[in-house]
Amino acid sequence: MPAAQRLCILGSTGSIGVSTLDVVARHPDRLSVYALSAHSRIESLAAQAATHRARVVIVPDDAARQRFLAAWPAGLPVPEIRQGAQALADTAADPEVTAVMAAIVGAAGLPGALAAARAGKRVLLANKEALVAAGTLFMQAVRDAGAELLPIDSEHNAIFQCLPQSADRALAPAQPATGVRRLLLTASGGPFRCTALDQLEHVTPDQACAHPNWRMGRKISVDSATMLNKGLEVIEAHWLFAMPVERIQVVIHPQSIVHSMVEYTDGSILAQLGQPDMRTPIAFGLGYPDRIDSGVGLLELTRLGRLDFESPDLQRFPCLKLSLDALRQGQNACITLNAANEVAVDGFLHGRIRYTQIPAIIERCLDESGRHDACTPASLDEVLDLDARTRRAASGYCQAALP
Ligand code: NAD
Ligand code: MG
Repeated sequence: MPAAQRLCILGSTGSIGVSTLDVVARHPDRLSVYALSAHSRIESLAAQAATHRARVVIVPDDAARQRFLAAWPAGLPVPEIRQGAQALADTAADPEVTAVMAAIVGAAGLPGALAAARAGKRVLLANKEALVAAGTLFMQAVRDAGAELLPIDSEHNAIFQCLPQSADRALAPAQPATGVRRLLLTASGGPFRCTALDQLEHVTPDQACAHPNWRMGRKISVDSATMLNKGLEVIEAHWLFAMPVERIQVVIHPQSIVHSMVEYTDGSILAQLGQPDMRTPIAFGLGYPDRIDSGVGLLELTRLGRLDFESPDLQRFPCLKLSLDALRQGQNACITLNAANEVAVDGFLHGRIRYTQIPAIIERCLDESGRHDACTPASLDEVLDLDARTRRAASGYCQAALP
């Protein structure tokens, strides 16, 4: 009998949340939904909760509670409605829950993901910003509580699959796996890989969100265009696999078929290949250690014909360089990088700043914080405090940005 999982999906109405429910529906024998959460698409949350018979839903406030009730189909028993940010963390730690899918976007997902780790759950981590903002705290919580940490980000899931198989490999390693020389993190290069540099200042949010290979939420789509996403992923890989930044190489691979690789000291490189469909890493995490059906179709290599690899151009992608510098500088710089980016991307998506102003705003915030912050935050409150201060500064720069 497979181990049954009772799931809490934080951010169930997003791109990852929807893909997770798609996989869950294929395995009623081993996967069930206990709790779902949403921030703005409350009617979708009601539809999901009715279909998957969720016992609990989490909404942000009273108005959302009313919307949920108005959208609830008559005749079905209403799930328990929990409310507010604290309810996300409380539900992630609920004794009824065995596995938590952390799929909220941004640092807003950190308290829930951390609570799941502290409660010793199986944590399916899509929310990379949680690790970027609180790597030390998060990995320590996984170790202390004996949580099972399974990376869902496709690159990290690929690396996890290519690393040596050991019984405790889902338990936050303190040093790099034996025999591994480097991690090779692939990146598509996004929609502007070949755009003339002088055109970049005119690109629109819709162009930035039109990723050539993946369908994702708008924030991560812009991050993929700037390659800040790859920067966050280098930081994520550093924490997940205890790997120093010098031993993580970013490789542009426009087809998004090789999801990442592990290079060993004997010269071998192991890669994981697959369709660019998040249901594959999600099914890996949900079924682990078994392999279960994800609904993803076959990958016909003969139809692909070729796979290309190239080095990233740091002049085209200044956000990648800013991220690598932040990782070298320390954890406070990573918090600043992430918070400044969230505000700048939101500003770009809402027409308040230009695409090319995103790295400028991040750099300015990093310059400011660099003066006083080289240390590591000791608590979640310290992380959230620096995050909030950076957001205030970045909002000011956004307001002053566009002529
Ligand atoms: P999305 O924007 O599609 O969905 C985000 C979800 O988070 C929604 O359910 C929304 O209701 C919820 N949410 C947003 N703000 C919130 C807040 N302040 N409080 C509580 N809930 C909030 O995002 P996505 O593309 O599904 O990405 C989710 C996470 O997974 C991100 O961290 C992203 O980097 C990561 N990820 C996504 C993909 C992908 O293919 N989409 C791949 C790898 C990693
Ligand atoms: Mg990724």
